[in-house]
Amino acid sequence: MPFIPTTLEEASQRCWDELDIIFVSGDAYIDHPAFGIALLARWLEAHGFRVGIITQPDWRSKEPFMALGRPRLFFGVSAGAMDSMVAHYTPARKLRHDDAYTPGNRHGARPNRATMIYTSRLKEAYKDVPVVIGGIEASLRRFAHYDFWENKVRRSILFDAKADLLIYGMGEQAILEVAERRAAGASMTETHDVRGTAFIGTAPAKGTYQEIPSYEDISASKTHFAEAFRLAYHEQNPWSGKTLIQQHGNRTLVCNPPSLPLSQTEMDQLYALPFEKAPHPAYQEPIVAWEQIKTSITSHRGCFGGCAFCAITMHQGKSIQSRSQASILAEIAALSRKSWFRGSISDIGGPTANMYGLSCGNPEAMKICRRESCIFPGICKNLLTSDKKATALLQAARKQPGVKHIAVSSGVRYDLMERQPGYFSELVSHHTGGLLKVAPEHLLEHITDLMRKPGTQSFERFLARFDSESARLGKRQSIVPYLISGHPGCTLKDMLELALILKRMGMRVEQVQDFTPTPGTISTCMFYSGIDPMSGKTVYVATTDREKGLQKALLLWHLPAERSKVLEALRELGREGEAPKLLGGAVRPAGAETIRRTKPHRTTKSGKQTDR
Ligand code: SF4
Repeated sequence: MPFIPTTLEEASQRCWDELDIIFVSGDAYIDHPAFGIALLARWLEAHGFRVGIITQPDWRSKEPFMALGRPRLFFGVSAGAMDSMVAHYTPARKLRHDDAYTPGNRHGARPNRATMIYTSRLKEAYKDVPVVIGGIEASLRRFAHYDFWENKVRRSILFDAKADLLIYGMGEQAILEVAERRAAGASMTETHDVRGTAFIGTAPAKGTYQEIPSYEDISASKTHFAEAFRLAYHEQNPWSGKTLIQQHGNRTLVCNPPSLPLSQTEMDQLYALPFEKAPHPAYQEPIVAWEQIKTSITSHRGCFGGCAFCAITMHQGKSIQSRSQASILAEIAALSRKSWFRGSISDIGGPTANMYGLSCGNPEAMKICRRESCIFPGICKNLLTSDKKATALLQAARKQPGVKHIAVSSGVRYDLMERQPGYFSELVSHHTGGLLKVAPEHLLEHITDLMRKPGTQSFERFLARFDSESARLGKRQSIVPYLISGHPGCTLKDMLELALILKRMGMRVEQVQDFTPTPGTISTCMFYSGIDPMSGKTVYVATTDREKGLQKALLLWHLPAERSKVLEALRELGREGEAPKLLGGAVRPAGAETIRRTKPHRTTKSGKQTDR
């Protein structure tokens, strides 16, 4: 199927003299279901709409935004697959010089706060055409929120972008319903009851909504900030969540309940859409994001892990929405027919690989459930944890003609995997490629509790199982632990303890993710307010660049470049005497081997923040 038109010429080749919906995206157009704009464009196209895409327009004037003319129904705007501020700045707020979603990996193809800027240019060009905003940036900034880059509370993005409607979450159902209603003659106001949307308007009838503290209140009080976050978070159950309202001065933000999860049939329909599985041919240079995902397969969406630093609950939701095995195998078969496919699949997974096919076993409880996680602090008695579907999927995928190797590079929850011996065995036997990435993030219980992650004991049990299974198989395999420094609750002393624990375990970490307070997470709420919003307890927060730098250095004790910071941290803690224990005199020379295998087969490298 031809690519979605990106020029009037491409539209006229389809005999279209007008488009119904035009997307404006901060990313290049890659026609693959891993990219939101492509997915939504193909979805709308399959429902009979004429769709076009304007990618990475020059935002300094309105003309590039008029390249496809005036759409009949509305413009759809997305900053891209990442929040534009996350895409442009490091956790230390330094400008990045690359961009995986732009041809040639070049920085600067989209503006900061792209959703706002694009909407503004579109309104200059076509004042009377509705603009619907969506994607990660709009979704996670739908309420008044803390912005790390300005270090202040900002209004809902709807007020700053001056858009007509915001679609949050994955968006297929909401955008289709809005398009169908608009096509039937509805005004934008008449779309204000669509699930998964937010708008500025009138609150619904009393008693049907939950009001959260206003923008002014949460700007003035961190206690109110944490309260607003908690109230909003607990209304994310798609079956029982209430409409949320939040005053901004004398105007009202109204956020409808989330869209219902997609059924397996709907998931299969989405992934069967006629994607070209390639970047648009106009691009002359490689796109890093495409190279990274071109042989990966999405098996499901959603995550019930509830990790505090992850925004999945506020975006994709807690329910696992899985594709059928047949749908996934059909995608693998199509992949294996590509001329460039060499037999290796880089991933079969989703936000958390071992949640494929899982669900809550008590539909009544699920519809009113307000737990943040189905597996923390313990595994809920209602959760069905059988690994049969996930195991069968991997076994069937390996047998597909043309497939030589399949990696599972999505993260796994090892606490859940204690109930999944079959999947664990498949993983260790066939899918690690010698390195298994896991994300303990930290190992001290009072911090993993704040992160809503399992603690040291669970990690150690997992390591023991991994070692023994690898030994049984006669394989030399390694664990790659992902760790976060500077997470709320973590002091310099805690980081030293973690470094000493890792050293005792024989683990070295090559990279550490410095915690970044991105919009929409429990951890970001803690970072800004100093309060765990769910317990109301005060939380220590490392906010200075110096302390964050020292925390990170402690985990990188073995790197010569970090040695002076490690010594500085030890001095600050009054524990200089422990320098030999940590540094052990064995400072690795620059350029030396970065992966070290330890007894019996465990190696460590590591890590960046993942979404688990
Ligand atoms: S009842 Fe238990 S398994 Fe079901 S959704 Fe709630 S926490 Fe998850």
